[in-house]
Amino acid sequence: MRQFSYEPPRQRIVFGAGAARRDLAAECDRLGVRRLLLITTPGERARRRDVLAPLGERIAGEFTDVREHVPAPVAEQARGAASGLAADALLSIGGGSATGTAKAVALELKLPIIAVPTTYAGSEVTPVWGLTSQRRKTTGRSPDVLPRTVVYDPELTVSLPAEVTAASGLNAVAHCVEALALPGTDPITAMFAEAGIRVLASALPAAVQDGAYVDARAGALYGAYLAGTAFAVAGSGVHHKICHVLGGRFDLPHAQTHAVLLPQVALHFERTAPDAMERVASALGTESAAAGLYELAGRIRAPVALRDIGRGENGGAGGGAGMAELDLDEAARLVGERVGLSRPDAWLILRAAFDGEPPPR
Ligand code: NAD
Repeated sequence: MRQFSYEPPRQRIVFGAGAARRDLAAECDRLGVRRLLLITTPGERARRRDVLAPLGERIAGEFTDVREHVPAPVAEQARGAASGLAADALLSIGGGSATGTAKAVALELKLPIIAVPTTYAGSEVTPVWGLTSQRRKTTGRSPDVLPRTVVYDPELTVSLPAEVTAASGLNAVAHCVEALALPGTDPITAMFAEAGIRVLASALPAAVQDGAYVDARAGALYGAYLAGTAFAVAGSGVHHKICHVLGGRFDLPHAQTHAVLLPQVALHFERTAPDAMERVASALGTESAAAGLYELAGRIRAPVALRDIGRGENGGAGGGAGMAELDLDEAARLVGERVGLSRPDAWLILRAAFDGEPPPR
């Protein structure tokens, strides 16, 4: 075995159905925090009364103006709220957008975060922050933004609509595929990634079919934890960078963009990282990684074509402006410049992703 180093993220993970309701107050005591700023969306705020009730006066105030990709003015307002309340910690309840807003506050004010994720994005286990200003997203790594405690409660994901479950679940699978494809990934992280694919591929179809099936939700959330942890250590490669460029330039919805690109980038990885893609295929129980990922997307009814996401000229699902066929040239140029792919490779991936072409089996 080749030489490697591995630094596990320093966090406390609490996992279980009902854990948010049952354990959050004790987790606050454990950290010695008394004045929390709750960071969430109005929808989550309304759904989580039973989770918030046991925290009583520990919730000093709330910030609910969470936006995807953390626009800089939103981060500024959230910081103002935390300072104004003299908060001693941040409690984020929600998907990657709520966690990301808490991270933007923690980056400047150095407050600890307790994260309660309600999607499969995985941001709660990474030291990666992101901020958007003038249609360009900047990301960075800082130990200050890594949540100190993460409470995973599958009951909180029962309300996640089937289409978000599918797209967000494939965002998690993408963390795993990328971690395996990156050349420097250590064997412990690769083990997390492979296990993540296995668990997600089995849990997601059941969670999409019956959103209230808590065991399937628990499997998907555990897979999201494995995936996020693999991503935290391995970092971004071609796949995440393409999604980042397209998301920033064309205002595409984050999870759906990952879902669409994944099989097409895996097809590219079959050429550049064949051993890694064999591991992906074996975890999926299929012959080919790319075809297996495309089939999984079909089974969970996730979008497979860029033309179908964002509003764009085609009126597709998800938020954001969307991409038009005419944008493909510009997209291939940007991906070529910023991702380190040749222009023809970028074009091949994007053309197939725009149309949702099935990879060869
Ligand atoms: P999101 O947080 O924007 O949530 C998607 C939608 O689902 C929202 O409308 C939200 O209100 C809703 N929702 C969330 N949980 C729900 C629930 N349990 N029930 C019903 N509705 C629910 O989307 P996301 O995909 O979780 O996060 C995307 C953001 O996270 C992007 O900005 C992305 O860049 C970031 N991200 C960061 C990292 C990182 O390591 N820093 C990793 C992954 C994603």
